Amino acid sequence: MGKPDFRLPPGVKDILPEEIPKWHYLEDIIRELAELYRFREIRTPIFEMALLFQRGVGEATDIVVKEMYIFKDRGGRELALRPEGTAPVARAYVEHGLHTRPQPLKLYYVGPMFRHDRPQMGRNRQFHQFGAEIFGAPGPAADAEVIFLLAEFLRRAGVKDWELELNSVGCPVCRPQLVAALEEYLGKHASSLCPDCRQRLERNPLRVLDCKEDSCRQVVQQAPTPLDYLCSRCESHFRGVQEELCSLGVPFRLNPRLVRGLDYYTGTAFEVLSPRLGAQNALGGGGRYDYLVEECGGPSTPGVGFAVGLERVLLALEKQEDSPLPKEEVRRGVFIAAADEEGRKRQAYWLRLLRSAGLPADRDYASGRGLRAQLKQADRHRARWALILGAEELGRGMVRLRDLESGEQVDLPETEVIAWLRQKETGGS
Ligand code: AMP
Repeated sequence: MGKPDFRLPPGVKDILPEEIPKWHYLEDIIRELAELYRFREIRTPIFEMALLFQRGVGEATDIVVKEMYIFKDRGGRELALRPEGTAPVARAYVEHGLHTRPQPLKLYYVGPMFRHDRPQMGRNRQFHQFGAEIFGAPGPAADAEVIFLLAEFLRRAGVKDWELELNSVGCPVCRPQLVAALEEYLGKHASSLCPDCRQRLERNPLRVLDCKEDSCRQVVQQAPTPLDYLCSRCESHFRGVQEELCSLGVPFRLNPRLVRGLDYYTGTAFEVLSPRLGAQNALGGGGRYDYLVEECGGPSTPGVGFAVGLERVLLALEKQEDSPLPKEEVRRGVFIAAADEEGRKRQAYWLRLLRSAGLPADRDYASGRGLRAQLKQADRHRARWALILGAEELGRGMVRLRDLESGEQVDLPETEVIAWLRQKETGGS
């Protein structure tokens, strides 16, 4: 038997310490914006009953049929790693009776999602989404609010050249006529459709509209689209969303063939695309889902939301010449080095003192290492300062501070060190 192979399977990745500053960069923006827009965070488990997605996202969707990680627990329950965040939030909304709280309820989440898709650039099997949902607000202003939040997130993150595409996919009143017309039209052209779309024709003809295969694109150019069939309520709602977006200054483009890969959408559907991303060019998307809460066993409650893929946002930012992402780890904190035995005895004291003053501090754990080796370690660990403790200076109530960037040194009275470092940290000279 060979050695067991513990490496991660394709499409799942570790995020290593040096990549963490990029993630914190996005996460900080998300938290600040959510606070500003008055969305509250919700954290749901990473797995749910599989049925939630089968019913909520749709039994005939690619996400559920082809991409869901399903497993049985020891109690025989069929569970699924969550492939998306909206159905879990709607489930939590129902399970905890959140409809009894003041409405509308504005929630957001950040976390990993799982889809067993073919891994490629921009497509992972575990990826992270930031999503926001508004429950209990039926009017177009709520649609515009979530789109505004998504647009502002991308703007603050520094993403350039994104495009917002907008459509309405109709509601249970108007969709049956559209589906009938589509079935009739596509039925006549079935032989020109790709094998996937021939199946979609049976189960979900709307999805044929945004197939990326050339042959299907040709066919759908003349196909009926949702906008041709909107009922008067959907039409006036959709007009309202466009007016709100204009007032908010969010540019958009109508795409009558935009349909989303999840069945719960009704009315507004949107997607944000980046021309820098190649084949997987969607940064995020969302729409209205006025029947999902009911589907999850709750009272009739309108909902609207979006999800944006954080890996794709990072990819788009990395492709920009002037990427705003934090580059290398900045030097931080104080490394406490000992020049001799006397200094070593004082290391613990200084470690505690600096940390309790709110100054990041670290030390060498090996006993008896020479000062040069310790300073080298301080530099490698990207400390900003080295605090050098030695018998001679300590005898005079002094310590030595070395600036690890410039190599300059100063001797300071022990009592002045904290104030001196604090002033340097806050940008004083
Ligand atoms: P969806 O709800 O499927 O439109 O997903 C929303 C966003 O999540 C997409 O626009 C992508 O940015 C991101 N996303 C979806 N699937 C993946 C994946 N397999 N890998 C990385 N990001 C993804």
